[in-house]
Amino acid sequence: MPIDPTLPYDDENIFAKILLGEIPSNKVYEDEWAFAFEDINPQAEIHTLVIPKGRYVSWDDFSTKASAEEIAGFVRAVGEVARAKGLVEPGYRLLANIGAHGGQEVPHLHVHIFGGRPLGPMILRR
Ligand code: 5GP
Repeated sequence: MPIDPTLPYDDENIFAKILLGEIPSNKVYEDEWAFAFEDINPQAEIHTLVIPKGRYVSWDDFSTKASAEEIAGFVRAVGEVARAKGLVEPGYRLLANIGAHGGQEVPHLHVHIFGGRPLGPMILRR
């Protein structure tokens, strides 16, 4: 079920628990601002999630309320993870789903990093 991105942050969400280490994850990167781990159900050869350490429901929440330092730290972390995975030369895709039309399932902002093969059209045409 997609989440409602206008609701307050839910401290019980699965990514909050991953951040606290209460639920295990395959961690690939961590710094002051961000945490990155492998998606449990990968949609490409490389499918990594990067989340801010702050309590933000979605890109909307983050872009509205996060400090300039948090935003810079998070954006740099996404780039760092992609570089560390060797994705710059072959290329990759970033995706952040927001709310129902975006298909967001977890109410803690996450950016998907996809790579490892040509990823095809940007969006499914129906
Ligand atoms: P969304 O649809 O919200 O943009 O993406 C949520 C992503 O989180 C999905 O790709 C899903 O596979 C992943 N995911 C959901 N639960 C877990 C979990 O417990 N661990 C990990 N590593 N990924 C998860």
